[in-house]
Amino acid sequence: MEKKIAVIPGDGIGEEVMAQALRVLNVVERDFGHKFVTTKALAGGAAYDKYGSHMPEETLALCRQSDAILFGSVGGPVAEMHLPKWKNCEANSILNLRKTFKFNANFRPVKILPELQDISPLKAEVIQRGVDMVFVRELLGDCYFGEHKTFSENGKRKATDLAVYDEDQVASIAHVAFKAARLRRNKVTSVDKANVLDNSKLWRQVVTEVSKEYPDVELEHMLVDNCAMQLIRDPSQFDVVVTTNMFGDILSDAAAVLPGSLGLLASASLNQEGFGLYEPPGGSAQDIAGTGTANPVAQILSVAMMLRYSFSLEAEAAAVERAVEAALKSGCRTRDIFRHSKASAAEEQTTTRLINCQEMADEILKHLEQKVLV
Ligand code: NAD
Repeated sequence: MEKKIAVIPGDGIGEEVMAQALRVLNVVERDFGHKFVTTKALAGGAAYDKYGSHMPEETLALCRQSDAILFGSVGGPVAEMHLPKWKNCEANSILNLRKTFKFNANFRPVKILPELQDISPLKAEVIQRGVDMVFVRELLGDCYFGEHKTFSENGKRKATDLAVYDEDQVASIAHVAFKAARLRRNKVTSVDKANVLDNSKLWRQVVTEVSKEYPDVELEHMLVDNCAMQLIRDPSQFDVVVTTNMFGDILSDAAAVLPGSLGLLASASLNQEGFGLYEPPGGSAQDIAGTGTANPVAQILSVAMMLRYSFSLEAEAAAVERAVEAALKSGCRTRDIFRHSKASAAEEQTTTRLINCQEMADEILKHLEQKVLV
């Protein structure tokens, strides 16, 4: 298979983790007999330095000519957000890409390996039940894209944000969720606030209608407040969770904390034609940029998602995921997943090994080349 990939490392740790992810992609290309043509482009502060724009036309043009986008992360140090180089950097780059390519579905898998239970905020007995779910968040509707208004009424300042969904938007994301469930454990939990909101009532109705086309997939509806509780109480009950833009924004970030580090998660944003952008959900981690200590796993798992969702290369995606799991199970730990361990210092020395960004990729490559079965 021959594919063109736009590679956009961005800022901060973006370059460091992307370099490791590309090493993994190169091994997949070589060992599975594919041709991946990767072309780098700038976004965020890195692009601002050269073009005076966070998302230059050159980068958008490259994305248009590519089969998929592999994205790092953008943004500057939190204390420098007011400077022109960093002001609105994320909105101008990543939100711009979402709008330009009409990415309507965001996938975020959340899985906790029992070996990493020490760094999860969840109790061991909760993790032992198995935590392995995917959030499917609608990305183009809700109050993010409805009318925003701040005005004055009877001498008081008021503000409104219109939350809008039409039935086609809901049906489209529901199909994405049911298809994803068929590749997993055949269960969809649809999250809404149908006891209060009209757009949630429509959401629930349309998801139920779409479910008739997937009789092999179990559908349950859950109110968003209950879902927030269940995520912490017993996340093992979830397989695919499909929800609106705003509920998905909040719930998927809460779920992202469960594995213990942002450096362990990948995400994908897809449009209705199947074109996709793959990125770690975390930011540019300016606090550790340049130290070589970033965890490359999130970016490497983004490569696996790209192989699966954009190129339908399931065996290759699974091989990368197995290699990551094998490296983690063998005790390899970057700083973010080492320091929180509750194990005693002596025990930690024998069971886990603190390594840097490049060494973590070395380990993953070793397992990938051995084609491990986890
Ligand atoms: P962040 O996600 O960059 O970092 C939060 C914490 O997680 C930090 O302690 C960081 O060191 C750690 N972390 C994140 N990824 C890691 C990795 N791969 N390995 C090890 N540790 C990791 O959030 P922040 O510090 O609030 O934001 C920094 C910048 O990133 C800001 O400019 C923000 O706007 C931007 N941001 C960008 C995106 C994006 O590009 N999609 C997302 C979120 C934040």
